[in-house]
Amino acid sequence: MRRPIVAGNWKMHGSRSENARLVEDLLAHSAAAPAATCVLCPPFVYLQEVARLLRDSALSLGGQDVCADVQGAFTGEVSAAMLKDVGCEYVIVGHSERRLLYRESDQMVARKFAAAHARGLIPILCVGEQLADRDAGRTQEIVARQLEVVLELSGAGALEHGVVAYEPVWAIGTGRNAAPEQAQDVHAFIRARIAARDARIAAATRIVYGGSVKAGNAAELFAMPDVDGGLIGGASLKADEFLTILAAAGPGK
Ligand code: PEP
Repeated sequence: MRRPIVAGNWKMHGSRSENARLVEDLLAHSAAAPAATCVLCPPFVYLQEVARLLRDSALSLGGQDVCADVQGAFTGEVSAAMLKDVGCEYVIVGHSERRLLYRESDQMVARKFAAAHARGLIPILCVGEQLADRDAGRTQEIVARQLEVVLELSGAGALEHGVVAYEPVWAIGTGRNAAPEQAQDVHAFIRARIAARDARIAAATRIVYGGSVKAGNAAELFAMPDVDGGLIGGASLKADEFLTILAAAGPGK
């Protein structure tokens, strides 16, 4: 049985006071032991403080990105060891904003995945096509390419506890979510690609959907057989929305 996972990507939002209020609201109203794993991914500078706020709670902490290198002269970067050191269990790698705005290649994303995995972080690997790719019928080709580079470098075994997030770029922050059947098609495709290497790991890998998930559409998306939760951007900044989404994710498939 796959325990669903809902991760909140705060992106470059928040302040110390806003974060404290949001976490306080989440802790006050979330179930003591939510059915789904819940991960909060604040900006780097707030990780340590959010870790303190989450201490002794059922909620987990994640980074939004990680350096592919271990340590050294990489100004501005944050290593996997540093994320672990401040209490992260998870880290997002290959978010489309990193791929598109900061020109992260598939190879760079694969190195980041490997660096995170080597340090015992659970990578949340984002894959997804742009609108032009979908319109051209290239969704599977794009997603397969993004996935295979990671599987080639790290092996399917690295997905043992890992998470793949299918995030169609055209659905991120646009208010236009993929239809549940569209998400299911791609999730089943991703699971089949992993199964081609290792069927046991494919069956256990959590594949989450991201792209304009809201309180109002989460349940129908998460009801799909291969959708194991969500990566949530905008709606993760509102406690009531995020809690409704979290509740929609349980209990697992
Ligand atoms: C994201 O940031 O990964 C995301 C899916 O954003 P949103 O939920 O706002 O579309």
